[in-house]
Amino acid sequence: MAGQALYLKYRPRTFEEVVGQEPITRTLQNALRQGRIRHAYLFAGPRGTGKTTMARLLAKAVNCLADEEKRPCNACSICIAINEGRLLDLIEMDAASNRGIDEIRDIREKVGFRPSEARFKVYVLDEAHMLTEPAFNALLKTLEEPPPHVIFALVTTDPHKIPATIISRCQRFDFRRVPLPAIVNRLAAIAQQEGMKVEPAALELIARQSAGALRDAISLLDQLTSYGDEITLEQVQNVLGTVTTAVAGQLAACLADGQIAAGLDLINRALDDGADPRQLGREVIEVLRVLLLIKQGSAAHGFALPAEQAAEMNALAERFPIERLLRAIHAFNAATTELRRGLPVIPQLPLEMALVESFLTIGPPAVTAPSGAREAPPIATASQPAVSSQIAEPSAATWTGGQPVRESERAPSISTPSPALQALSLSEVERAWPQVLQAVRQRNPTTQAVLNTGCQPVEVNGNEIVVTFPFPFLREKLGDPQRCMEIQEALSEVLRTRCRLRLVLATEYTPSSAVSSPPSEERETDGGTLNDQTLGEIARWAQQRGGETTFLPS
Ligand SMILES: [Zn+2]
Repeated sequence: MAGQALYLKYRPRTFEEVVGQEPITRTLQNALRQGRIRHAYLFAGPRGTGKTTMARLLAKAVNCLADEEKRPCNACSICIAINEGRLLDLIEMDAASNRGIDEIRDIREKVGFRPSEARFKVYVLDEAHMLTEPAFNALLKTLEEPPPHVIFALVTTDPHKIPATIISRCQRFDFRRVPLPAIVNRLAAIAQQEGMKVEPAALELIARQSAGALRDAISLLDQLTSYGDEITLEQVQNVLGTVTTAVAGQLAACLADGQIAAGLDLINRALDDGADPRQLGREVIEVLRVLLLIKQGSAAHGFALPAEQAAEMNALAERFPIERLLRAIHAFNAATTELRRGLPVIPQLPLEMALVESFLTIGPPAVTAPSGAREAPPIATASQPAVSSQIAEPSAATWTGGQPVRESERAPSISTPSPALQALSLSEVERAWPQVLQAVRQRNPTTQAVLNTGCQPVEVNGNEIVVTFPFPFLREKLGDPQRCMEIQEALSEVLRTRCRLRLVLATEYTPSSAVSSPPSEERETDGGTLNDQTLGEIARWAQQRGGETTFLPS
């Protein structure tokens, strides 16, 4: 069997061998033993969890020639034919490449014919959600009056894309991600049978990376066999590292070229494929750092990249706007620092935030926030004097501990404050905003990261503070009552009065009265966009630090 992929070689041949889907195998086996055979099944769930394998087991079990309790026996002519992939009555179709009505019509014409050797003709429709609407309609007609000798098994990762009319005709089974210990056990058994020695920690890392997709875990083990019969944790890390590095490079290209959506896709796909968000964050920072140094001309003595890769990096550095590059380094550094404290409920969220934050041109970037609002990375610390002299000047001169002093610069309307409040004005809230972010951070770093994507106070009505957020996808994250409470508490604490928070999508925001002035122009001078001089200083600093710089707190 040399040369055969391990996941094919160890594909379960009996229900008992299926890993991690016990409720499904039990239900199916019981039904089959009692002769309760349905004409349509829906196997839904994440990739690599055994759906297609289950469909084949079903085909074997309903057609096996052995006694009912022994099915599938893997010894009769039918079982053997299916195991060898040559039973004519088992028809497997990839709906992704046979999406149209013609294919389904073809099925409709042929279902009428009796099976050639087995009891049942079994149609397995892989990626069933890919069928076109006319194809679904044609399929529905078949499912409404199925010939007694036909069974359909619809297999899909996206059941919500399948019409309800079809689903209602099927017995549905939802596959779950295979639990970690089950994957580890399975890998250990395969390794043993293959005569491989694998460190337990290596097995566990493989299992973790597969994120519940047993097939992926076995494929990864397969890749590692090229290292020989003994596999260490380090080798697994190396193999996985190269994958993450490739993604990090692609992400840097998205950042350079302004492709936010593609970047978000990349992050999500990488994590779906089992990448560790912390490692991905670190790799992204590494790539960005190399780009920063190349941009400053220190590539010649800094790196020994292969010629092809060096050319690629040079081109990337060239088209990467320096402001965005610096912002991206800060944003990903903050995200990685946050990830080190533990994975949030949505593990990709900090990286998504960092990506979006990298593109902001208004609002407080990480550099300009007061030293505690973000965990200050070395680059921010070193550049602090230069940066704060840029932005601190106006605010330091006017911030007198709660009294708004810059009203002369504001619209005259501010002179009519709501009676409900002790003279809280928009400019006061705006100036206190960095402190508010800091106070939010103390309550919950993730909430602060969400706010730091460019959310800003735009209006004050009595004790209600209106804050806009720039992206529709933040609606859900900010809508969380817990988060709202954290922000509200931080506002109340910093402004020393009880505040109420109203969050509005920036594009949907219209000032509720003429009383408040739109803040946008002022924020651009006030809110900390970096000027060229500052950028130059940061870049020079980074260049001086050269190779020994590390942006990661150890
Ligand atoms: Zn059999």
